[in-house]
Amino acid sequence: MTQSLRIAHLYPDLLNLYADKGNILTLVRRLEWRGISVEVISVPNGEEPRLEDYHLVLLGGGSDREQELVGRTLRARQSEWQAAVQAGLPLLAVCGGYQLLGQFYQLPDGTKVPGLELLDLETIAGSPRLIGNIAIDTVGLGTIVGFENHGGRTTHRHQPLGTVVSGHGNNGTDRDEGVRHLHIVGTYIHGPLLPKNPQLADYMLKLALEYAGMRFDLEPLEDSLERAAQDAFLARRIPVRA
Ligand code: GLN
Repeated sequence: MTQSLRIAHLYPDLLNLYADKGNILTLVRRLEWRGISVEVISVPNGEEPRLEDYHLVLLGGGSDREQELVGRTLRARQSEWQAAVQAGLPLLAVCGGYQLLGQFYQLPDGTKVPGLELLDLETIAGSPRLIGNIAIDTVGLGTIVGFENHGGRTTHRHQPLGTVVSGHGNNGTDRDEGVRHLHIVGTYIHGPLLPKNPQLADYMLKLALEYAGMRFDLEPLEDSLERAAQDAFLARRIPVRA
């Protein structure tokens, strides 16, 4: 029997802002185009995730209210999450999902929503919201583009995903955007992230295929449309002040 790569989409009923579902569609298509079998498991809030069954996990963005609900669910299995990511489980978390990987997300009224503590990271809601198009330079993954909309200011003690060349990033001050630690990638970039950044999609797929013990030589795909979309964005970007 052919083994399938199993991708878990966690809490799509609550964490689903700005077309985050497009990330799943991109991963699925890029596997199918290469003849690799894939299965997507959607886990609604209230259902227990079976972390040992997945090769890649996606957490999307959500509003503060939804984050509080999901935060409680996630915390209930903190030790399983810790073990899974230490074992190399790839995890892609966007915006609200990204914030929930840290110690806490502090709401505008001062209440702290506890996070999964997979990362040494904290987020404090601030004003104004950090909204707009964003471009970052990364080490090894080229330029990543997209859209951000968050009140939270995040700081952490890991490697960032990239350096902001246009937009706000983690906190609007240090020019860091996102995080890369173990096989975890966290980012504020929606819009959705992966259709516009196929190199990042393939990076997550390589990690997942390796983790699954499946072949991981991903032949290049015809990405000229994606590259043209990135170029069009970059031609219009407003650089941040150094
Ligand atoms: N509630 C969070 C914030 O505004 C996350 C929002 C989001 O996921 N777009 O910071």
